[in-house]
Amino acid sequence: MIGMKKETNFFKWLLFSRKGNITVWLSAVLLAAMPGLIINLAHFHLVGILPPCPLNTLFGIRCAGCGGTRCVQSMLSGNLLFALYYNPIVLLGTVSLAIYFGWFVFNSLKKNYTPPKYDLKTWQGIAIAAVLVGFMIIRNFDFYKHFFY
Ligand SMILES: [Zn+2]
Repeated sequence: MIGMKKETNFFKWLLFSRKGNITVWLSAVLLAAMPGLIINLAHFHLVGILPPCPLNTLFGIRCAGCGGTRCVQSMLSGNLLFALYYNPIVLLGTVSLAIYFGWFVFNSLKKNYTPPKYDLKTWQGIAIAAVLVGFMIIRNFDFYKHFFY
């Protein structure tokens, strides 16, 4: 595997070093700013870019991700209530990632930098899967659909 070591070192540098972390978050800010600006200035619509959900199309069931695109579109337009309406899990996930991202940026800038940890424990993986499956079941009941999408 020629060149393998170099690539591994590059990812190690990106993920576990201060300068690598700064590179990651600066790139993320630039990448996020572009569609954000396009959506808000040109009133561009994300909805319709992704193919429709197969579960919803074939069986009429809403999966855990249904309404996710409209949720993201609402968040980017600043309509957090609509984002909550379309998909609270996508909103919660985005908020969690934003908090993590904030810590990631802060950690890369503070004096005593510590390399981030990325390990997901088995119970955490199971908990996330349980929340997603539970949400998918609940959102298909009429009482849920009465208030949310
Ligand atoms: Zn779906």
